[in-house]
Amino acid sequence: MADDRARLEALIADIQAEFPSFRIVKKEESGFAKAIDVALRIVTFGGQREFMTRYYTVIGDTLYVPEGFDDFDPVDVMVTLRHERIHLKQRRRYTMPVFAVIYLLLPFPLGLAYGRARIEWEAYTETLRAVRDLRGEDALRSSALKSRIVSQFTSAAYGWMWPFRSQVEAWYDAAVREISAEGAGDTPP
Ligand SMILES: [Zn+2]
Repeated sequence: MADDRARLEALIADIQAEFPSFRIVKKEESGFAKAIDVALRIVTFGGQREFMTRYYTVIGDTLYVPEGFDDFDPVDVMVTLRHERIHLKQRRRYTMPVFAVIYLLLPFPLGLAYGRARIEWEAYTETLRAVRDLRGEDALRSSALKSRIVSQFTSAAYGWMWPFRSQVEAWYDAAVREISAEGAGDTPP
């Protein structure tokens, strides 16, 4: 456990080295996050009510973390940070205005949000790789993990961004096969 905390601190330092203005803000201490929470409840008709309690959100160089963050399992936090780091890289790659347009508008803000789905898909692939690295091959193949991630795409969580379950499952299965084939040996401990 102490080791995992140290590894988490090292990961945060590593992200800060790559993105110097990266910072972590607790949602319950942020008026901005509270305002987004209200807006999300409205646009999803109350379908997304866990923004404050469950979800991490990157805006600019700031990672907004849910309530209770300090008590979270450090391995879970590392898996999440690796996902969010992909979003930081994407934003740098596409530049912020283009990233925002892809993420929020293409092709529609809610439902069939293919741009958002592809961006999230790249980040969830890293989630799967992190699960394999930190929790092992059996955890990677967990059906609970699969249904949790697939539902992120098909449910109100991200505004029904790609509601075609069989297609998302096909992406998922292909990513698991690819990550398994990479092998765990070539990633640093
Ligand atoms: Zn994401």
